[in-house]
Amino acid sequence: KKKELHQLAGVSSVTPDGKAVQLAANISSLKELEVAKPVGAHGVGLFRTEFLYMDRIGFPGEEEQFEVYRSVAEKLGDHPVIIRTLDIGGDKQLDYFEIPEEENPFLGYRAIRISLDRKDLFKTQLRAILRASYYGQVKIMYPLISSVEEVQAAQALLGQAKEELRQEEHPFNENIEVGIMIEVPAAAMIADLLADEVDFFSIGTNDLVQFALAVDRMNDQIAHLYEPYHPAVLRLLKMTVDAAKRKGIHVGVCGEMAGDMRALPIWLGLDVDGLSMSSHAILQVKERLLCTRQEDSRSLLEELLACRTSDEIIKQLDSFKQQID
Ligand code: PEP
Ligand code: MG
Repeated sequence: KKKELHQLAGVSSVTPDGKAVQLAANISSLKELEVAKPVGAHGVGLFRTEFLYMDRIGFPGEEEQFEVYRSVAEKLGDHPVIIRTLDIGGDKQLDYFEIPEEENPFLGYRAIRISLDRKDLFKTQLRAILRASYYGQVKIMYPLISSVEEVQAAQALLGQAKEELRQEEHPFNENIEVGIMIEVPAAAMIADLLADEVDFFSIGTNDLVQFALAVDRMNDQIAHLYEPYHPAVLRLLKMTVDAAKRKGIHVGVCGEMAGDMRALPIWLGLDVDGLSMSSHAILQVKERLLCTRQEDSRSLLEELLACRTSDEIIKQLDSFKQQID
């Protein structure tokens, strides 16, 4: 079975009725990049840069970051890499960067909020990413966006970084694409407004589910309440994808749900453009995609959106899956 799956690495990921979906890899280290190639990943849909900042005694400088980003961009060649700016805080701490103890760290000082507070650190990372953009298909993505102002503030700093690089005659891609994670319910609800500011969305279902349901994704005691197939989550997903489609921007998914076989008809029904997941899941998802019709997924999605409970949604998804098996 494994060998058969491997033969799919070079096969295009298109449904029987012609819907193409880019299947990309999530990576959080350089080692994981090596696993993405053999499974035929369409580049990296989520490059978690936190590892660069961890297990050390101080923040990495521009040169060091640039070398890493450039090497990933070069290794991927024509395939894109979406570099997400620093997403620390919450569960991810750095030894050398003290964040005052917080009552609710997941709702606290983290991700883009730190970047916009510590513009020195943020600009260093943006400059490194911009410089790497000269060597491949590099895109930038901001995490944990919850307002238009945050995007505009980040974009203003990106503009400054670009201006500096021009002055210093460092080459970079002037038209580098910029996107945001949609992982806060507020962002999903104003997706139409956010779409005017950026080139793409990537839905982070891990955090989106946690925040939509007010269920800490790290708390075992309430793990049974962490339900990706909740009617509220479906509505937020639909709101986000519909807004992206109406505004004509690319929309993908990069949370765990992207690699969940059960969720595939939801993505096809919603008409997302890409799915980014652990490399280990890519071939299995592709195999399933090759035999799942988008038309059928659209009809299923309509039924899912009319469901009143998660149980009903899951039942429908499972019976749809069985019909294909
Ligand atoms: C997410 O929240 O879905 C996501 C992809 O980001 P992370 O898991 O790194 O928070
Ligand atoms: Mg997240």
